[in-house]
Amino acid sequence: MKTSKEYKESLRMMRPNIYKFGELIKDVTTHPATKRSIEGHAQIFDAARKSEYKDILTTTSHLTGEPISRYLSIVQGPEDMIANVRMKRLMFNLTGTCTGGRCVGFNAINAMWATTYDIDQDLRTEYHKILQTWLKDAQKKDITLAGALTDAKGDRSKSPSQQCDPDLSLHVVEKRKDGIIVRGAKVMICGVAAANEILVMPGTGYKEEDKDYAISFVIPRDIENLTIIETRRPSDTREQEEGYDAPVDIGGITQAYLLFEDVFVPKERIFMCGEYAYSLKAVMNFIASYRAAIGGCVAGQGDVMVGAAALMARANGLSEKVFREKLTQMTINNETTFGMGVAAGVLGTKHPSGVWIPNALLSNVNKVHVATLPYETKRLAQDIAGGIAETGCLPSYKDINDPRYGKLLKKYLQANCSGETRAKIARLIEWLTIGSGVPGCMHGGGSPDSAKLVINASTDIAHNIELAKRLANIKEDIQVETKKK
Ligand SMILES: Cc1cc2nc3c(=O)[nH]c(=O)nc-3n(C[C@H](O)[C@H](O)[C@H](O)COP(=O)(O)OP(=O)(O)OC[C@H]3O[C@@H](n4cnc5c(N)ncnc54)[C@H](O)[C@@H]3O)c2cc1C
Repeated sequence: MKTSKEYKESLRMMRPNIYKFGELIKDVTTHPATKRSIEGHAQIFDAARKSEYKDILTTTSHLTGEPISRYLSIVQGPEDMIANVRMKRLMFNLTGTCTGGRCVGFNAINAMWATTYDIDQDLRTEYHKILQTWLKDAQKKDITLAGALTDAKGDRSKSPSQQCDPDLSLHVVEKRKDGIIVRGAKVMICGVAAANEILVMPGTGYKEEDKDYAISFVIPRDIENLTIIETRRPSDTREQEEGYDAPVDIGGITQAYLLFEDVFVPKERIFMCGEYAYSLKAVMNFIASYRAAIGGCVAGQGDVMVGAAALMARANGLSEKVFREKLTQMTINNETTFGMGVAAGVLGTKHPSGVWIPNALLSNVNKVHVATLPYETKRLAQDIAGGIAETGCLPSYKDINDPRYGKLLKKYLQANCSGETRAKIARLIEWLTIGSGVPGCMHGGGSPDSAKLVINASTDIAHNIELAKRLANIKEDIQVETKKK
């Protein structure tokens, strides 16, 4: 497996194709907009070599028997799924934020592992073999793989073929003997700057008229005709700030728009092309696993928020006991999403392809909690910290260190610790609660409303009514006529 040094070197070797503010980012490992995200991902490689984290971050390839990164593995049972949730929590503990340049790709491999198997079984295609061959090579090279599902979509009430512009979702424009040409965009894609390759999947289910949109493939991030626009603003990445105003040199998020202007994908990298009937299944496979594991992400960030809030209480001269109820609530929130993620994993089922698919009801319930509870955790962290951790109430690092008045600012910032230490804690809380530290709780992995659709479809109300009727000894049949719209 790669060292963090080799990982960064692999990114430096790639063709620059990422832009921000009209400027081409020549080296993602040093550019202020992307380097923190790369440092965060690099920590995966360092942590994998430490004995205390090795079991979480690495596993054995079921294809080769060799040790591999868990991010390139097939989840084969509940233990693997628990390790996945713990891995996400760990990485948030270590970086304070998201390392989505690996985890979305990891989920996408697993979703397509099952989907390609099903397509091959039914239609005698060879997609599963193609995926297997590619994965073996990816494991050997220990690549970092981003995952791209979300299309630009256009008018949400219309399907791709009904849009005013056919490119609003990514689609095939030409089929050749040796591959396909694709055009369109994938948007809001996490960690692309930190990735070597990108696994592309359908963003939703499609009908026959939209079959050109039912595509899945993997490409090098620097493939010809792919232009990437980095979308995080300097206030999120703190790229124009210094000292502890940019408190997390060890982690950061990048988000990107991927513009496919007739990209050629060779057939050895295509996992679905036109099999529209399997596109919804692919998405469902993805969300079952993703919406379970994100419980670990927000719990991991919540752990840091509990620590930072307690630290700020102490810095202000107050024992954390003063805030016991609030800190306890923060812990309840963290453990709820973590526990739901683990439970969804444990109560999953084995797909005939060998991949373990978490319980859809529980993972979608978890998605709704993930879109709710962390916001309360963030509110409580700010509540405990005081105004200093809210927007705009703390002088900048530069001012605090100004030779004219910096001494005075430090003097008035001091409490139960130095002014400088208090400022560092405040900046961390500000970042965790309103800055780049918000890891897509609401829409990452899909909207909470889309999760509620799955929850609703999985709820057997008729069965629950029978339970209630039995206990109340009711024999009468009670029905309500529903009016047709
Ligand atoms: C931090 C972050 C990281 C992300 N990382 C990735 C990534 O790595 N890879 C990736 O593929 N994507 C990624 N995404 C994108 C994410 O998957 C999408 O944001 C999500 O699927 C929702 O899509 P949308 O943003 O287009 O919202 P919309 O689809 O516009 O939804 C907005 C609202 O409208 C509702 N809605 C939408 N359509 C309908 C309809 N037809 N009828 C009724 N209601 C509707 C939704 O439920 C929601 O409440 C990321 C997003 C965030 C915020």
